Amino acid sequence: MGRVFLEHLGGIRLFNCGQCQTNLTNRNQLISTRFTGATGRAYLFKRVVNLTFSNVQERVMLTGRHMVRDVMCKNCNAKLGWMYEYATDEQQKYKEGRVILEYALISEVEGFPESSTPTH
Ligand SMILES: [Zn+2]
Repeated sequence: MGRVFLEHLGGIRLFNCGQCQTNLTNRNQLISTRFTGATGRAYLFKRVVNLTFSNVQERVMLTGRHMVRDVMCKNCNAKLGWMYEYATDEQQKYKEGRVILEYALISEVEGFPESSTPTH
């Protein structure tokens, strides 16, 4: 498979893979915490890095029919959630291209503050 290139989004609240701590996203990318996944609470993010994607599957959810891909950690291959590829319901279009991470499968950690802007 060759080398795995990993990105890091930075930020002060980070969300990492629960298995290997690879950085996935941060608080700035968080759209909503009001989702439910297979393991319970799930978060919707604008942008998530270091993922691999399964083939597109059709899934019927409470909010209608969606085409989704499962998402896995690029580093350790742990399943983390899914991505919305396509939503049939007009009201759900905002979710297209967005990623759900299941809260039980990720870890939320303190990141590194941007270099020295002292607060007076
Ligand atoms: Zn991982």
